[in-house]
Amino acid sequence: MSRTPLIAGNWKMNGTIAESEDRVASLLPRIATAEHVDVAVCVPFTALQAVVDSTRGSRLEVFAQNMHHEPSGAFTGEISAPMLTEIDVHGVVLGHSERRQLFGETDKVLQLKVPAAMDAGLTVILCVGETEDERENGDTERRLRHQVQEGLEKVPVERLGEVVVAYEPIWAIGTGQTATAEQAQDALAFVRALVADRSKEAAEHVRVLYGGSMKPDNAAELLALPDCDGGLIGGASLDVEQFVAIIDAAPR
Ligand code: PEP
Repeated sequence: MSRTPLIAGNWKMNGTIAESEDRVASLLPRIATAEHVDVAVCVPFTALQAVVDSTRGSRLEVFAQNMHHEPSGAFTGEISAPMLTEIDVHGVVLGHSERRQLFGETDKVLQLKVPAAMDAGLTVILCVGETEDERENGDTERRLRHQVQEGLEKVPVERLGEVVVAYEPIWAIGTGQTATAEQAQDALAFVRALVADRSKEAAEHVRVLYGGSMKPDNAAELLALPDCDGGLIGGASLDVEQFVAIIDAAPR
């Protein structure tokens, strides 16, 4: 089964509309021929419309970084799936560790968000990953099992293969510390095996990304791992040269 790698840049809370437009204007010509990968950028809400408009007809997909599970209602400060699809956003990152740790996002609410996004036609990148303490205490698999099973529980089996899961060890995010190739491969394969527990066919299709201080100098090794179907890139995605170098490092 060949899966097209996905390289997704998570810009986090970085980028005014003007800065975002400048960044995509530099990026677009550099990825025009990168047919070996799918490329996405996960953009702050305020810049989504502008980035969608300036990337129409290109290979670049535009993702939001969060979403509420209800389509509308009394949820001050939130954005819903129909609001994203109305402006032609392609997908959404759900359950990023910063949202879990800083904004109290739980597996229970992700259980609602994931199918709500998919029903609206958005591609979901569901983020999972263990803390440093959990890894040191031998709890990595227990944590991943909980996050993957809960997050995907309400996704019907026939749509399971459409989900993208990003394995992001929390201790590696923004720290410059990367999982070793062996640690990453073990966790990526474990995530795929969890999907296989529900459907072997879906497990063949589901894309599992690595995230956590992926940079041009470690990307080739990580992206070549048997169960690695791409990367979720934070810091390095803000620098077009570094992001393009990571895209170029993906296997052809
Ligand atoms: C992320 O935020 O998803 C991430 C992987 O960040 P960084 O690449 O900066 O570690």
